[in-house]
Amino acid sequence: YLANQARWESNARSYPRRIPIAIRKASGIHVTDVEGNLHYDCLAGAGTLALGHNHPAVIEAIKETLDENYPLHTLDLTTPIKDEFVEELFSSLPPHFASRAKIQFCGPSGADAVEAALKLVKTSTGNRSLFSFHGGYHGMTHGALSLTGNKGPKENVPGLMGDVHFLPYPYSYRCPFGLGGELGSEVGSRYIQRTLDDPENGIVSPAGMILEVVQGEGGAVPAPDAWLRDLRTLTHDRGIPLIIDEVQTGFGRTGKWFAFEHAGIVPDVLILSKAIGGSLPLSVVVYDQALDDWSPGAHSGTFRGNQMAMAAGIATMRTIRSERLDNHAALMGQRFMDQLSNIQSHSFSIGDVRGRGLMIGVEIVDTSRPADLLGSYPAHPDLAHSIQRECMKRHLIVELGGRHGSVVRFLPPLIITPEQVDEVCARFAEAVEAAEK
Ligand code: PMP
Repeated sequence: YLANQARWESNARSYPRRIPIAIRKASGIHVTDVEGNLHYDCLAGAGTLALGHNHPAVIEAIKETLDENYPLHTLDLTTPIKDEFVEELFSSLPPHFASRAKIQFCGPSGADAVEAALKLVKTSTGNRSLFSFHGGYHGMTHGALSLTGNKGPKENVPGLMGDVHFLPYPYSYRCPFGLGGELGSEVGSRYIQRTLDDPENGIVSPAGMILEVVQGEGGAVPAPDAWLRDLRTLTHDRGIPLIIDEVQTGFGRTGKWFAFEHAGIVPDVLILSKAIGGSLPLSVVVYDQALDDWSPGAHSGTFRGNQMAMAAGIATMRTIRSERLDNHAALMGQRFMDQLSNIQSHSFSIGDVRGRGLMIGVEIVDTSRPADLLGSYPAHPDLAHSIQRECMKRHLIVELGGRHGSVVRFLPPLIITPEQVDEVCARFAEAVEAAEK
């Protein structure tokens, strides 16, 4: 299988290079490869599988769609499933956002919804420039890639959207202001205020500001609540639509339904995908109706009505709600963090353990080189890769992320049990020890 893949698939293939297994079956947190090995999947569809693989509620919903002869493809026509889906989604949103929100179905991927959000704010403000953040990730399509705050994926792609101003993200371990902690984030929001208000910077009325509340691909970097509240006030006062990309953080992953709820704010535009389709492809933007200057047909696309994905999404939302998986994610996240911090204290290569809920990052650093003023060591991507390989040997699937590819990321399904957290951490501890030798 792997040889065939290397032969036929594009040179751009990514995950299979580092996770060289062929998967035959999957259930819950586990996948079984073609050789019969059972792996712990802490990548879980890059955060998509909130309920794990093949959850009975999701499978049941999919089967019902088929057994009852419900339509599979309807463009964006009305169906009872779609109606139910919207009701379920809106009842998950903070009521003061839901009461003035509109929804646009976008297509299969998160990037589709990012593109829609860009068009929406550009149309409604009539402005062209956007603010985005260093370390941010929003997808691989042209507009989304232009907003991505890392050089890597954009290199060698000429002619991306030019009007994007990148701002520093409050990454505490590598604070862009060399301060760290609360002071670093306070200076960060003041810096943004000054940047916006100084006409000499040449920023003329931006169309919007886009950010992740916890940067995912950027290395599981959470933004402090106070910084988010400052940004909400700044954007509100200046009439700049705030676009929050919850493609990865949404639906309980960070310990709340939506990560913006930790700070008690609401966005003007909310981008959702991954978990929303209960394993199947779906994305939406939910936005303040004041921005709805789109004329009929201004945004469309053939695959916006994936009924099976909506049915699976309804089942997912209902299960998260009935089983309080948001609270469970917070508890399991804490259990992870405690054990990972313990592993850190026995390791010489873990610089930082951080995250929110079940979106966790372990930053691998090179302690043989000098630390900076804050005591942060240079990133060590080679060692991070060795740790990932050692994890694979122990049948533990984790992915790397971060600006320098030096952050081991844990994104397990929200249904992970305490025993599974302990087992994953035990395997990770062994992997770190083996890689450090
Ligand atoms: N935004 C964020 C925050 C993401 O994490 C991702 C995917 N990792 C995307 C957008 C793009 O989603 P997709 O890969 O489905 O296009």
